[in-house]
Amino acid sequence: MARIAILGARLSGHTTAGYLSLWLGKGHQVRPQPPGETEDVDYDFLVNATGPKLNFGGTPVLGPEGGDTGSVCTPEHALEANAQLQECIRAMKKGERRRFVVGTGHGMCTCQGAAFEYLYNIDHALRQAGVRDQADLTWISNEFELGDFGMGGVHITRGGYITSGKVFAESLMVERGINWITRAAVNKIEPGKMHYETLDGTYHELEFDFSMLIPPFAGVGLKAFDKAGADITSEVFAPNGFMKVDADYKPKPYDEWSKHDWPRTYQTPKYKNVFAVGIAFAPPHPISKVMLSPNGTQISPTPPRTGMPSAAIGKAVAANIRDLVKGKIKEPIYTASMGEMGAACVASTGSDIFKGTAATMTVFPVVPDYETYPEYGRDMSLTFGEIGLAGHWMKWILHYVFMYQAKLRPGWSVLPD
Ligand SMILES: Cc1cc2nc3c(=O)[nH]c(=O)nc-3n(C[C@H](O)[C@H](O)[C@H](O)COP(=O)(O)OP(=O)(O)OC[C@H]3O[C@@H](n4cnc5c(N)ncnc54)[C@H](O)[C@@H]3O)c2cc1C
Repeated sequence: MARIAILGARLSGHTTAGYLSLWLGKGHQVRPQPPGETEDVDYDFLVNATGPKLNFGGTPVLGPEGGDTGSVCTPEHALEANAQLQECIRAMKKGERRRFVVGTGHGMCTCQGAAFEYLYNIDHALRQAGVRDQADLTWISNEFELGDFGMGGVHITRGGYITSGKVFAESLMVERGINWITRAAVNKIEPGKMHYETLDGTYHELEFDFSMLIPPFAGVGLKAFDKAGADITSEVFAPNGFMKVDADYKPKPYDEWSKHDWPRTYQTPKYKNVFAVGIAFAPPHPISKVMLSPNGTQISPTPPRTGMPSAAIGKAVAANIRDLVKGKIKEPIYTASMGEMGAACVASTGSDIFKGTAATMTVFPVVPDYETYPEYGRDMSLTFGEIGLAGHWMKWILHYVFMYQAKLRPGWSVLPD
């Protein structure tokens, strides 16, 4: 009997556990370990699927717990942010003005897509409430250009021609009357005011009535010890707390970055029975070019690891563990490199059955591959974007599909990730 412990069981951990249970059947122990419980567990295989630590402490005083900005990174945070938004709408209905600032709360944030989506949801909610003309909406982010999304930007096929993500994102902002500030590292929050540095090394302030800023991510702070009890944390984890896997971590200049740097099997180099999936693995380097201000502040996104790649990684790791357990293979053979896989993203830009819209984008591959696709780094027949009502319906359907899948209901494994 194989004992497989899975730390963390939301997205990639859930996928890994689901497939292992399905494929290995009874007689093996597949155990997701929920947070908040302490237990000594013997394992034959260990999968780290603990996702990110929401590192609000990286910017004083960011976030809803003690700070003055909101978050949508947990259900509780999102509910709290919505209550504040509704309060703003009530005040605006009485004739008051409100300033909304949404984006990233640190120079090295990722997950711009989630903030981008939230900004458009606010815009839509204000329009539906009939108070949009009393609102100033501003996007603030660490991206070099709009539409970078931590993927080094993207060119997309749209309506039969190729356009840059920058033009796509800027058009959306102009169309909805939203201001934007890019190349910005938010470094301090005070009540109603944020401080930020821009890539040219200058410092600025921005006042707000409502703000939602994504925090920087780090590993969740796991410690590792060998059998003799020696602390081996620094061997197993990168300094940012993410787990080192089969990536090429040798520091390289931007011009030498390659898809081959990215992990394929997510096996840790030292412990062949330990894997890290989803956000928990340490990327070899960013995807967007690293930018430093004259003051030495890094103001550029770290790499995103969205749902689709996280689930694909979980599935590949599950397949490897299955075949290792069954003795069919000696080394992992199933791969899920972000340099070889695509991702789809449907970002809501307003939720309404008839008037809603969503921006639908696919990229292939996630990490640009200039060896195979020298012009844009991506396969332009598989990298496209569109915005419209059909996108909203797709997002709505996917919401229920993912909930169904997460509950491992009949047929879950054939549904898309
Ligand atoms: C606001 C927001 C919106 C997003 N929207 C999208 C989207 O529209 N599309 C998309 O593709 N992606 C989206 N993402 C990204 C997506 O959520 C992540 O890619 C995905 O959740 C990563 O999966 P994961 O399994 O690595 O981590 P998670 O889903 O975060 O799961 C990690 C789990 O580990 C648990 N854990 C942590 N520490 C421990 C511990 N010590 N022991 C045991 N368990 C532990 C956590 O509680 C959690 O349940 C969004 C992210 C955010 C924050």
